[in-house]
Amino acid sequence: MKVGIIRCQLTEDMCPGSTDFKVANEGTMAFEKTGPVEIIRFRSCGGCSGKKAATRAKMMVDRGAEAIVFASCMKSSNPIGYPCPHFAAIKGGAEKKLGPDTKIIDWTHRKP
Ligand code: SF4
Repeated sequence: MKVGIIRCQLTEDMCPGSTDFKVANEGTMAFEKTGPVEIIRFRSCGGCSGKKAATRAKMMVDRGAEAIVFASCMKSSNPIGYPCPHFAAIKGGAEKKLGPDTKIIDWTHRKP
């Protein structure tokens, strides 16, 4: 499966996202059900309040992503200890924009 990952822009300057790539490559944690996945794009939400996220998700789907994954930095505040206050709206916006045919996974390596 090909996926696009969206993460918190606040973490972008400090976190290389290496654990996201590791669990995706291994098919572990959030990817236990899908098995190993190929990350075709790794982007941020675009900054608070995340209004670019749905459009970025749609563009990744248009370029081949079969699922959109929200990295654990968003919902579970890993590693900066600041859970996204806009996460429900961001996820809802992506669901509305992508429709029911695109799978959305809302964590990567730290269970919500
Ligand atoms: S909207 Fe949420 S995910 Fe995006 S930068 Fe702000 S806190 Fe992070």
